[in-house]
Amino acid sequence: MSADPNSEVVLGAPVRRLIGDLVLSSQPGSVSNGAPPIELIANGAIDIDEVGRIVAVGSEQDLAPAVGAVERVGGLLMPGLVNAHAHSPMTLLRSVGDGLPLQRWLHEAIFPREGKLTAEDAWWGMALGSAEMLLAGVTTSCEMYWHEAAIVDAVHTTGARTVVTPAIISGLLPNGDINGWVAKALEFHADHHRPERRSHVGFAPHALYNVTPEHCGAIADAAKSVDAILHIHLEETTAERDEMAEKYGRSATQVLADAGVLEAKVLAAHGVWLSQSDMRLLGEAGASVAHCPQSNLKLGSGVAPTPAMLEAGVRVALGTDGPASNDDLDLWEEVKLAPLLARGVAHDPQAMNAATALDSATRSAGIAVGVEDIGHLSPGAWADMIRIDLDQPAFAGSDDLITRLVFAGSSRLVTDVWVAGRQVVADKSITTVDVAEAMAEVSTRAKRLAG
Ligand SMILES: [Zn+2]
Repeated sequence: MSADPNSEVVLGAPVRRLIGDLVLSSQPGSVSNGAPPIELIANGAIDIDEVGRIVAVGSEQDLAPAVGAVERVGGLLMPGLVNAHAHSPMTLLRSVGDGLPLQRWLHEAIFPREGKLTAEDAWWGMALGSAEMLLAGVTTSCEMYWHEAAIVDAVHTTGARTVVTPAIISGLLPNGDINGWVAKALEFHADHHRPERRSHVGFAPHALYNVTPEHCGAIADAAKSVDAILHIHLEETTAERDEMAEKYGRSATQVLADAGVLEAKVLAAHGVWLSQSDMRLLGEAGASVAHCPQSNLKLGSGVAPTPAMLEAGVRVALGTDGPASNDDLDLWEEVKLAPLLARGVAHDPQAMNAATALDSATRSAGIAVGVEDIGHLSPGAWADMIRIDLDQPAFAGSDDLITRLVFAGSSRLVTDVWVAGRQVVADKSITTVDVAEAMAEVSTRAKRLAG
């Protein structure tokens, strides 16, 4: 593995058919969240074309004869998970500052280390994070960080898909000039938004506590001009909520609405302290919330009101947040925790069903990160998919597969992973990168950042 930015990018794979004992498909054009129309196909076949898109899904006997090679992989083939909010290069800062509240955690543990972080550090941190996610069956992550070119290059190397949203805070802008930053971000979008190379680009004002509403508005205009997502931390803590009330006399969501930001495709991370009227604003705008339950619990921020969000028409996706506040990138834990928290808080076992939880990490997460052709196995979608070993105690007996996946499923059951039809994990081993080398690099670099 090398940090050479010209390292070869392998695109697509030969035309072929994969056959699983079961395929978890979904209807194209189906609505997100609510009641996702999931379909389980026995002896299911998936035909993949040379660029890595799915051309047909169905039971083997119903499909036309295969054009290329046929691979019987068995198990359950399902969409790869989509991590809607991550700062994966923070594998370099994993677990630091445990026990500090958000603002002290940022200023005492995180920012001093990140001040020393180079592009090459970010490359290795992202490579390790990407490998960790692929091994867990997470095929796409939406990254909010800087050193964005290093992130794109690292993910090209691991073979995953990424939505990179370069982050900015107003205090870092030379002379407060947002236009210069926006011009560079648009240039980065023009150069690196390449869905066929598995890289997608959005824009990320960090949060309203460190980016001005005017700057957020300018970034939203840029995002709208290229139909990209605007990714922002929103209503994460009571401290943020109180600061907004004091500074603007309104909620953060209302500030964004007044600045025209909600006219963009907004992906708001957290939303723990959203009010009913905030949720209405987000729902009417078609915005998405990346719910990060483990990070919110670990930092003591609270529990996001996901059933009320869904009720208000807000799309709910799931995210791990960075590995400094989780402390891993295993989205299966969020898939399980989201409905458990929703039910526990509401004292209602119907507060979030298993299908909605799974949808929040697949199809709805794809829409939330601005990539509608991932998170579902249907014709036209990218062949981003994973194989689950069904020969496990958790699946003995045949009923309630979705419930079992959500509440008894785990990254440990993921055996194989394909992104755009290219196999990147085979029999629980990643084929694209040397994980031991990435771990050694991250260990050495983490020590330097801590010094
Ligand atoms: Zn975050």
